[in-house]
Amino acid sequence: MSEINPDEVFDITIIGGGPTGQYAAYYAGLRGMKTLVIDSLDQLGGQLTALYPEKYIFDVAGFPKVYAKDLVAALTEQMMQYNPTLALYHKVVNLVSTDSGITIDTEQGDTYHTKSILITAGVGAFAPRRVTAPGVEKFEDKGVFYFVKDKNSLRDKRLLIVGGGDSAFDWSLNLHGHASKITQIHRSDRFKAHEDSINKVQEIGIDFRTFHELKEIHGEDQVTGVTLFDNRTKEEFHLEVDAVILNLGFLSNLGPIKEWNLELLGNSLKVNSRMETNIPGVYAAGDICTYDGKLKLIATGFGEAAIAVNHAKHYVDPTAKVNPGHSSESVPEKKH
Ligand code: FAD
Repeated sequence: MSEINPDEVFDITIIGGGPTGQYAAYYAGLRGMKTLVIDSLDQLGGQLTALYPEKYIFDVAGFPKVYAKDLVAALTEQMMQYNPTLALYHKVVNLVSTDSGITIDTEQGDTYHTKSILITAGVGAFAPRRVTAPGVEKFEDKGVFYFVKDKNSLRDKRLLIVGGGDSAFDWSLNLHGHASKITQIHRSDRFKAHEDSINKVQEIGIDFRTFHELKEIHGEDQVTGVTLFDNRTKEEFHLEVDAVILNLGFLSNLGPIKEWNLELLGNSLKVNSRMETNIPGVYAAGDICTYDGKLKLIATGFGEAAIAVNHAKHYVDPTAKVNPGHSSESVPEKKH
């Protein structure tokens, strides 16, 4: 459950904290809107954070080239000027619109009230790719982690890190010297991570094993060890560890959005030139929306976010102009 007051009514709730949602949150702040941003991940940035943080992007206006993670950091700084409320690690599962406003529910059991909604849900809610080996579910968040939220709890612990992508290598490097011992395994000898990180992990002497997989996690009240196996020889190994970090990438799922009575075209939400969906007060922008001529790009998502938020502002407060004027000439409206 989050700590947001359940009686609070937001002017706009942005479902999805990818680049489109982040820029929309900035714009909503600029327009003085009381803003809530919700994302199923524990971090902002959407696809940029989940799928390609270390890749350069070359087609964002004003940046000849920029790492995806650096663009997310800049968007975060820009939006946080206005202190929007964040509900991260929360997945929206239900949306109901009535004459008195819009209510949304999250999988985590929270309900939020809002005057308007902007859906910037991209390709759907991201969730970590789960592992089904015995012991994983039993110890989830109690020694088995898909996200490391508290690095301190891993101090001087013996760790197993599973994965061959950037997140797995980054955690091995980040926790080296902090944990007492790190073993990293990956099921093949092909990696999705940066070469530099792979080389560093090998240079600093982390126990790094290719063609190894997790078979079982052991322990009564806490994790005490794991069984690994070599997927070529089927030979099994027992390893004493105190915690396991699983970094096997993310899956996305449009899931519940299809059940909110919104008009769909394939897997996308149909919008008009104001980014309005078929439900009054509900807007969509970015990869999730479609219209004649739609292109799924960060650049187009930014433009759609600005259009959607300015129309939502006028919807929530009909005395407010749609056109925001020029930011270079304005003093930002009230901050929250
Ligand atoms: P997303 O980035 O998909 O973010 C949506 C967010 O909504 C996610 O964080 C998700 O968890 C959240 N969400 C969804 N449903 C829910 C729910 N029910 N509850 C809570 N949260 C929810 N584009 C470019 O312009 N240039 C490039 O160079 C480029 N390179 C790319 C490289 C790769 C490898 C990939 C995969 C994509 C690339 N793209 C590029 C595309 C670009 O990343 C997308 O267009 C962009 O991320 C869309 O942003 P978005 O905010 O609309 O959606």
